[in-house]
Amino acid sequence: MATKTKRLDKFAVAAALQEIAALLELKGGTDRFKSHAYQTGARVIAAMREDLGDVVGAKSLTSMRGIGNALASQIEQLHLTGESSVLRGLRKDFPPGIVELSSVPGLSIKKIQMLHEALGISTVAQLKAAAEAGRISELKGFGPKSEQRLLDTLSEQRRSEKRERRLHIHHAERVAEPIRDYLRLGKGVSEVEIAGSLRRRKETVGVIRLVVVAKKPSAVVKHFLNFPLIIQVVSQSERSCDVVLAEGAKVSVTAVTPEDFPLALITETGSPSHVAKLLKLKTRRGKKTKTPTTLSPSEVKEAVIYKRLGMQFIPAELREDQGEIEAALAGKLPEDLITSGDIQGMVHCHTTYSDGKHSVEAMAMAAEALGMKYITITDHSPTAFYAGGVTLDQLQRQWDEIAAVQEKVKVRLLRGTESDIVADGHLDYPDRILEQFDVIVASIHSRYKMDSEKMTKRIVTAMRQPVFKIWGHALGRLIERRPPFECDVEKILDVIAESRAAIEINGDPFRLDMEPRWIREARKRKIKFVISVDAHSAGALNNVVYGVGIARRGWVRKGEVLNALSTKAFQKAVRPTA
Ligand SMILES: [Zn+2]
Ligand SMILES: [Zn+2]
Repeated sequence: MATKTKRLDKFAVAAALQEIAALLELKGGTDRFKSHAYQTGARVIAAMREDLGDVVGAKSLTSMRGIGNALASQIEQLHLTGESSVLRGLRKDFPPGIVELSSVPGLSIKKIQMLHEALGISTVAQLKAAAEAGRISELKGFGPKSEQRLLDTLSEQRRSEKRERRLHIHHAERVAEPIRDYLRLGKGVSEVEIAGSLRRRKETVGVIRLVVVAKKPSAVVKHFLNFPLIIQVVSQSERSCDVVLAEGAKVSVTAVTPEDFPLALITETGSPSHVAKLLKLKTRRGKKTKTPTTLSPSEVKEAVIYKRLGMQFIPAELREDQGEIEAALAGKLPEDLITSGDIQGMVHCHTTYSDGKHSVEAMAMAAEALGMKYITITDHSPTAFYAGGVTLDQLQRQWDEIAAVQEKVKVRLLRGTESDIVADGHLDYPDRILEQFDVIVASIHSRYKMDSEKMTKRIVTAMRQPVFKIWGHALGRLIERRPPFECDVEKILDVIAESRAAIEINGDPFRLDMEPRWIREARKRKIKFVISVDAHSAGALNNVVYGVGIARRGWVRKGEVLNALSTKAFQKAVRPTA
């Protein structure tokens, strides 16, 4: 693939690093650890924003996270000469196609070697064809039984690939962005949009879908097939292509001409039932709908189609066939859904006082850099001993520090706590302390497995406490790891509607709690929300975009979000005492 004098771009370098990682993994033993480093390197290089040539030229590769000296020297070699001494050495040790073939269970390296020597097999497709033709059973050391076992394994593998795990949204984003950048480099490509469940901001993503606009769609497919991290092509046609990447992510690319783009973007984005329902609708004339002014250029093109169907534009996050089509036909879809640009303050931030990574000052500066007007410092309370909860004298020190930092920054620092809801439903810290905070987040961090009745009582008791509190990561779920805990959510929502409380929409991509269907139930009761970051580092302030995505999935409007308010209005709304 690589020629001697050719410089490799970041994608080709990443592919080579990925191949090194796979070969080291096959070697096993202590090479496994090295394999991990190369895998990290591949990911870092594929996702880098700076120009690879500049970074190599400045000899600053090692300043990138996860790249040490050995890795940097291979990256430099690959970029400048198209070759890597490590990769050359490893390739000599293995037959061709080893990376793909070794994914077949039960096929040892020795057997792969034999298959290559006897039948020239270097892909899984060739292996399958040879087994089906009965050629493998003729080989020494194989026989009819192992041929059948091989066929069974291959078909089982195909089945299990279909029900593969889904990626968390932030992970899917990290995979999708370099692909989008790569596709943009294709000849004649004018637009690339991420579609599918990632665009709908679902909690997890099964297939990363992209729609590409070009005069010649077939050229896009060809270009995409050269994307370095592809390890398997599942299906392929003139205009589309489904592949699996080295990390296991599934990607589907659809290429269209400019005329077909709006409809393709709609069909590739919507949930299957949203799309099916739309396609059944007839063009309707005479109905006037305004196109919102805040749409992106691609959304404006989609809006033309919705308009032709006599309905309002439906934002991607709502395209689930949960009443949005009917509402849009009736002109009743809210047009002021919350956006990231509406958020004025970062809520629910941890610092080194509990289990956060950065100081009060670092968090404040990061929030200020993001254009925020305020930030709430909410470290854990004493009951959360595992997270280094803040004791009373530490609290006084933190307040002094907050006052000192406030002298240096414009962003307004608010004194808060993430107070544990203890087993009987009371908040950790006595009332006289709670009353001194600017804001209280009340969360459950222990005893998740109470029965539903006890849990409901615990939360109801907490929500009825006289101080104003924000119910933090409400149902305690950890996506793909821990289900929401058992309780009577509707009853709790009824209580909140009559108490001094709001609900957090937690932006941590592993939480995204509470989930959209409950957000909509809360909205019916006119409960207010806070879209929080639950940040344990400055970088995690970016979680706000995931929180906003989930809020939009729950149809939350700007006026329902407390941290879309100005500093003064927010402080007044969340002040613990009336
Ligand atoms: Zn928490
Ligand atoms: Zn927290």
